[in-house]
Amino acid sequence: MSSTDNLRLSFEFFPPKSDEGRTKLLAVRDELQKLQPEFFSVTYGAGGSTRDNTKGIVKTFKQDGIAVAPHLSFGGDDEATMKALIQEYIDAGVDRIVALRGDMPSGMGGAYQMVYANQLVAFIREHFGDQLQLEVAAYPEIHPEATSYDSDVGFLKAKFDAGANSALTQYFYSPDAYFYFIDQCDKAGIDKPIYPGIMPILNYRNLIRFSDNCGADIPRWIRKRLEAFGDDQESVKAFGLDLVSELCETLLDNGAPGLHFYTMNQVEPTATIVKNLGLTD
Ligand code: FAD
Repeated sequence: MSSTDNLRLSFEFFPPKSDEGRTKLLAVRDELQKLQPEFFSVTYGAGGSTRDNTKGIVKTFKQDGIAVAPHLSFGGDDEATMKALIQEYIDAGVDRIVALRGDMPSGMGGAYQMVYANQLVAFIREHFGDQLQLEVAAYPEIHPEATSYDSDVGFLKAKFDAGANSALTQYFYSPDAYFYFIDQCDKAGIDKPIYPGIMPILNYRNLIRFSDNCGADIPRWIRKRLEAFGDDQESVKAFGLDLVSELCETLLDNGAPGLHFYTMNQVEPTATIVKNLGLTD
């Protein structure tokens, strides 16, 4: 692989909570920008818990002329609040949003009304037409709350039918899961790009905790390998870089349209993996 010409790269951040975190993130962004991503994206805490932080950093990116897509979910917000927030983004020059249902924040109980992502996509299209590119989430290993494989694919189709342009997947380490999913989506009549989400491996315990929560499978042989490294972070890192670089290579060689990296707000290892793939000039 030698060029990014037809491959789309995007890099996800979570919003910084402090001035120090913000300064660090902008330095990380400037390094990753050298890899020429199509856009960065910034996550959003369900229930608006990161509203100001997400909005603040997204606006800074736009002021600096950097393509950025805020993640967005209704959470507990009403339509007027959502409309005002989306309009504020558009006024700031944002032209892409990652539209999500999000998860129920703990402690909100039954009072909390979830708005499914297909409804959010329809809401944005109804009120803002085609001013925004809309990305949605997809789950090659199936969303943990889904009642069946087919229903989850069906709800992804509903997001596209409502007007989404493309999807970013939950991370996974089995390329077969992604390619099987793409086939099933194709059979269901989905003809829009589905970009694999790539989670570099930085820390074994965090990865296991994260994966258990979001329903991403860590194949047994990878668990066993990582477990054996114990606290030897250098070995975890080296193994993770090789493994994820190979995963990306397999994905791209077999037709994935690009890659969406969960950067964890770090330059490394995303930059190393992209360089391993030969995707830089
Ligand atoms: P939906 O597509 O609405 O699906 C949620 C569940 O309901 C699924 O089980 C689906 O099968 C089912 N379903 C879907 N539509 C319907 C319907 N109309 N009727 C009945 N059932 C339905 N979380 C955050 O809090 N902040 C973030 O910034 C964030 N960013 C993410 C980025 C990516 C790329 C991904 C993959 C996930 C992200 N998440 C984030 C996590 C996400 O919010 C959770 O996985 C959440 O549980 C589902 O969101 P969704 O948009 O996929 O939901």
